[in-house]
Amino acid sequence: GSEKGIQISGSTVDFEDIGGQNAAKKELQEALDFLLYSERMRELGIRPLKGILLSGPPGTGKTLLAKAAARYTDSVYLAVSGSEFVEMYAGVGADRVRRLFKKARELAKKEKKDRAIIFIDEMDILGAKRGSNVSHHEYDQTLNQLLVEMDGLGNSEQGPKILMIAATNRAEALDPALVRPGRFDRLVKVDLPDKEGRLAILKIHTKNKPLASCVDLEQIAQETYNFSGAHLESVTNEAAVFALRDDAREVNMFHFREAVEKVLLGEKLDRKPTD
Ligand code: ATP
Repeated sequence: GSEKGIQISGSTVDFEDIGGQNAAKKELQEALDFLLYSERMRELGIRPLKGILLSGPPGTGKTLLAKAAARYTDSVYLAVSGSEFVEMYAGVGADRVRRLFKKARELAKKEKKDRAIIFIDEMDILGAKRGSNVSHHEYDQTLNQLLVEMDGLGNSEQGPKILMIAATNRAEALDPALVRPGRFDRLVKVDLPDKEGRLAILKIHTKNKPLASCVDLEQIAQETYNFSGAHLESVTNEAAVFALRDDAREVNMFHFREAVEKVLLGEKLDRKPTD
């Protein structure tokens, strides 16, 4: 279900469904364990975790990681894009921020969960440095409201706990106020996958496809330098489409090669034969 730009869904993504990204997964899980064992943290006087920033190129699995985080912590999951807050009229963006947090609390209560995760994709659209070219007065109000809401998190003993996860591919463009302690102070870098990562991703997305015995996924992984997870998912899908066109019952190596070329052409990727 959803309400004007807010996507609400039960998360069905597990960390095992995310190929590669081992460092990111480990760091994220570590941060989430902080959340799960907050009692112990409080005893030690550790500041509660409020926000995690996922930073990396498009299509590398940031949304998947946020969804897996929701499942791992048994939280309700709300997702919204930073672009949803960009409005012509003053105050509308700030109001949307207020409503988003309210919605998260209501939803957690309704679903009888102790926690909610709010995922904001394209954070740089909403959280660009104030006073910079991209920033403009209306976004500043919106950003201020977000900071106010975040500062209020964890102050009350009652009600569901809210964790914010934001994604950006331009972490350096974010307003420094956003990444200050007590806000998005956990940075998790999500990079393009290396060869091992690409192989893991290819395996995940071919699980439901009949492969001919000639298919060498390691070879495909080798030949797809610079491809993101999203590109690799696309390769597996296109390969199956080529198989269909061939009236073949299995996807073979030829179909994969054609699919790689197609994705390369479509994205103008620079494929170098290294790593
Ligand atoms: P954007 O910055 O464009 O929002 P993103 O980093 O959030 O991108 P996702 O939305 O998580 O990327 O990934 C898009 C799709 O690509 C996923 O639904 C999945 O099919 C595939 N994908 C990306 N990364 C991975 C991965 N590490 N493992 C498996 N599939 C992946």
